[in-house]
Amino acid sequence: MKLIIASNNKHKIYEIKKILGGKFDEILSLKEAGIDHETVEDGTTFMENAIKKAKEIAELSGSFALADDSGICVDALGGAPGIYSARFSGGTDEDNNNLLLEKLKDEPNKRAHYTCAMALVSPTGEQVLAEGYMYGTITHQRRGERGFGYDPLFVPDGETRTVAELTDEEKNAISHRANALSLLLEKLG
Ligand code: IMP
Repeated sequence: MKLIIASNNKHKIYEIKKILGGKFDEILSLKEAGIDHETVEDGTTFMENAIKKAKEIAELSGSFALADDSGICVDALGGAPGIYSARFSGGTDEDNNNLLLEKLKDEPNKRAHYTCAMALVSPTGEQVLAEGYMYGTITHQRRGERGFGYDPLFVPDGETRTVAELTDEEKNAISHRANALSLLLEKLG
């Protein structure tokens, strides 16, 4: 059984291969599978977007396809930026971080969580779905150089460091993506 991951993100692929390696004979990124395809992410939820991406790749390739969609949801902003996390400011990750800091400047409630929706779709269209979370708070200024996205601003519950100050192993032990993947693995039996 061949699995194609609907992503070219090295961090995601490494993590997915580590967790699902035993379940498939071969796990390939889009690039490794020779697929050049961009899904229009026009869903209204993380899961809708993940399913759309996985379905399109499963149809194109005739293999199993796994896709994820993720982002950060901030309580004081009514769950924003949510599915628009990557496009929050229209600029870079740093611009996104600065916009979030600006919006939370006078806001005492700093609670937030990352969400990751994972969809596995078979060549015949069957779906296995799982969602994972990581809860925490937003800091007052960026700290740390690791990770990506909002990691320099996010302190997971039980930690004093931001995710950008954790090692890859530490992040992968608690991340929304790792939680979604292990739930998916459980569902696969
Ligand atoms: P995507 O699912 O790769 O499209 O990620 C959407 C956006 O959510 C990213 O561009 C980041 O802004 C944010 N995001 C998702 N997961 C993480 C994470 O693990 N750390 C930091 N930011 C994340």
